[in-house]
Amino acid sequence: MKHYQMYIDGEWCDAADGARLESINPASGEPWASAAVAGAAEVDRAVTAAGRALREGPWATMNATQRGKLLRRLGDLIGEHADRLGEVETIDSGKLAKETRAQTGYVADYYYYYAGLADKIQGATLPIDKPDMHVFTKRVPIGVVAAVVPWNAQMFLTATKLGPALAAGNTVVLKASEAAPAPMFEFARIVEEAGFPPGVVNVITGFGEPCGRLLTSHPDVARVAFTGGPETARHIVRNSAENFAVVSLELGGKSPILVFDDADVEGAVNGIIAGNFGATGQSCVAGSRVFIQSGIRQRVLDQLVERAAQIRIGDPLAEDTQVGPLCTRAQLEHIGEAVDAAVGEGAQLLYGGKRPAGFDSGWYYSPTILDCPHQDIRTVREEMFGPVMSVLSFDSEAEGIAMANQSDFGLGSGVFTRDVARALRVSDAIRSGIVWVNTYRVISPIAPFGGFKNSGSGREAGIDTIYDYTRTKTVWINTSTEPMANPFVMR
Ligand code: NAD
Repeated sequence: MKHYQMYIDGEWCDAADGARLESINPASGEPWASAAVAGAAEVDRAVTAAGRALREGPWATMNATQRGKLLRRLGDLIGEHADRLGEVETIDSGKLAKETRAQTGYVADYYYYYAGLADKIQGATLPIDKPDMHVFTKRVPIGVVAAVVPWNAQMFLTATKLGPALAAGNTVVLKASEAAPAPMFEFARIVEEAGFPPGVVNVITGFGEPCGRLLTSHPDVARVAFTGGPETARHIVRNSAENFAVVSLELGGKSPILVFDDADVEGAVNGIIAGNFGATGQSCVAGSRVFIQSGIRQRVLDQLVERAAQIRIGDPLAEDTQVGPLCTRAQLEHIGEAVDAAVGEGAQLLYGGKRPAGFDSGWYYSPTILDCPHQDIRTVREEMFGPVMSVLSFDSEAEGIAMANQSDFGLGSGVFTRDVARALRVSDAIRSGIVWVNTYRVISPIAPFGGFKNSGSGREAGIDTIYDYTRTKTVWINTSTEPMANPFVMR
């Protein structure tokens, strides 16, 4: 068993009350690590340390170029340790090592991107409408940032928050998910090695109640960057009524993929497979509502079933595994119930729908394809966060768009067509934060990421995000040679 401690104010520590949680390896269903659980005392210590680092000491006086250099060093170290970090993430979360290693290597680019932006945060001199006044604005750090992340893609979701937060001069308390916290403590070691002053980045874990609540409602937290489910997000928004923190929300999805009759079928099938079975379906942008135009419906369905049957399920550490276990037993049960309910509601099971043969331990579930006659079916309405795709069909472009928009979510979407004009029309009409045309699940530090509707508010990645971690300060300077006028004498 590995034993992880929290990282607060540059020190490794346990909880005052000794509380710990066990982290389960989803491939075996057995505990493999334990982590110290932050209670009220540790949350307060971490936020206080972050507040101190913000106002006093080397971080407070460091210029933006120096901050950029530190972030670049962090990126270098993440790149160097990508294999090890990826492996820990795989053991802890069940996500394929192939994906965690590659994703962690790419995460370095997010830190480089924001390292480059650190000294490009500028204010303005204002053409003010008053005589003898010089007025300018500055972008100053917003304050202590509480970054709350889920268990999937956590190195990436941490980078999209810490990159801009640190570039802009803030300090951070990062709360790792209780479901798979180990990679975040490995990340904390890298932060330490990079040479960030104590208190600038603090890493804790704990359950939503009380740890997450205490952190996001703490009076000294000014900014909450949250990724997780919509129900948790409602708590976060309520918590922020205590501190009026600026909140950004990256939430779940039920993203549509539309395949038109004129699409390249091979590309579309690859996009649908990537969107549903990539990351074992545990992706916020999973394209889990697949709409196929009636003319090519049967061809696409046949290929999807054929491809699903070829998927290699296995140990997430093995290089040739294509679908691994789900992260938690609760997730496995949730998916099993939802698929059974869908069948009861009229969906036809085309593939999967059960634990794969030969996988009696661990949280494994077969890649699953459901042919759904309408959108009231549970697997069509609810986020599955597992390898479950619901397929529907449509006749006209207008019908396809209307069906795609019939969802409480609006994170990603996919459009497969060879017609450029149609691609533009449909991408305009779909209410989602991201539209991929003839591709799916591509991301970059340069491209904003985020949702509409219940998929959240705010954007991560891209240039503008840096401003979400600053506040504008306006400075008025009287340039007159005369003293300030008597306020009771009107001129
Ligand atoms: P979750 O909402 O259960 O937990 C996310 C985090 O919130 C965890 O660290 C948890 O401890 C914390 N939390 C729980 N209750 C809290 C409270 N009351 N106050 C403060 N913090 C609290 O999500 P999960 O099951 O870990 O992750 C899956 C969800 O995340 C899915 O809905 C998925 O779509 C979403 N997600 C979204 C994106 C995106 O960028 N839009 C990316 C990845 C995952």
